[in-house]
Amino acid sequence: MLQARLRGVCFHSLTEGEEGAKSGDSSSLPRSIVDLELDELDGVGPATKAKLNGAGILTVLDLAVKSPSEVADAVGSDLTRAADLCNKARTKLVELKYLEEDFVSASEIYKKRMAIERISTGSRNLDDLLAGGIETQAVTEFYGEFGSGKTQICHTLSIMVQQPIGGGGLSGKAVYIDTENTFRPERIVSIAESRKLDPRKVLDGIIVAKAYNSSHQELIVGELGNQVRKASAKLVIVDSAVAHYRAEFLGRGTLSERQQRLNKFIHALVRTSEIYNLAVVLTNQVQSSPDTFFGDPTKATGGHVIAHTSTYRIYVRKTGKNRVARMVDSPYHPEREAIFQLNERGVDDPPEESSSSRRRS
Ligand code: ATP
Ligand code: MG
Repeated sequence: MLQARLRGVCFHSLTEGEEGAKSGDSSSLPRSIVDLELDELDGVGPATKAKLNGAGILTVLDLAVKSPSEVADAVGSDLTRAADLCNKARTKLVELKYLEEDFVSASEIYKKRMAIERISTGSRNLDDLLAGGIETQAVTEFYGEFGSGKTQICHTLSIMVQQPIGGGGLSGKAVYIDTENTFRPERIVSIAESRKLDPRKVLDGIIVAKAYNSSHQELIVGELGNQVRKASAKLVIVDSAVAHYRAEFLGRGTLSERQQRLNKFIHALVRTSEIYNLAVVLTNQVQSSPDTFFGDPTKATGGHVIAHTSTYRIYVRKTGKNRVARMVDSPYHPEREAIFQLNERGVDDPPEESSSSRRRS
């Protein structure tokens, strides 16, 4: 098994061959941006550059995805200087027309949004609910009870993203952060075979990192930029985003630290989705909410942090043989539901008769 060992963080490609690593050169990002060195920025001398490099921040893109507090830790400076460095990285990317300026016209944003890329979920109904699929430059959260299909959605997406544009994908790889040890390459092989895809090629296109606890999970996200760049990834999955935090931070006294750590973690993902123009998909569990008398007595865990940071939130639940997905929170999608199925193809549409997606009553 091919391994990339980076300061204690392991990202695994799923097949023996070296092909994946070799072909993993970033093609979706312009080389001039990918290779932009830190000393291109005013005020970054050899000493600062060495300190940043020592913390794994090698390029302007790496710096742009870090938070000021991480940069302050890396260079041993105060927060003001660190924020200034982060801003310089962003400004450089704006100058190079890679990032948007701070003030832009709505029509400019509209034009850009029309160019947003989407990954098919494998189900037409679910894609319709998402207005075409999972968006890049956004964080999409699937939450629901155990067995509702969150992990199956993640498995299917990590295959779909590799398909060509026009075939439901973005010709990119997937980085799969597995916190619950539920990633199964066998399932990838069976979904790929059912979809008449070459399973070996598909396995090569998924980089897996197992996170053993919340600190490890954060370390992995710290290294994500390098991996995304090397693999030319268009999708990052975290299944599940909150499980370790829930297990490790018990009791009211630890709530504020838990939320702070979770906040930092999710914001790192938001920045990664924006800077690398990729889609982030998170899964989240539900907790019972005894104060709910009407409707479904469950709500997502992670509290306001996840609720406010995810761009799109989708609630998934079982209903007979099928699954129902409901768009719960989105800046522009109507709140409606779609029916899908889990079968040998992973996520799929149910047979015709029950297949219509429906508006929420
Ligand atoms: P948890 O919260 O426990 O992680 P989850 O929402 O991630 O749950 P999944 O693991 O995605 O749940 O879904 C499990 C369900 O997927 C199984 O109960 C089964 O119904 C369905 N499933 C798994 N494999 C197959 C398959 N090969 N064919 C059809 N359905 C399958
Ligand atoms: Mg799961």
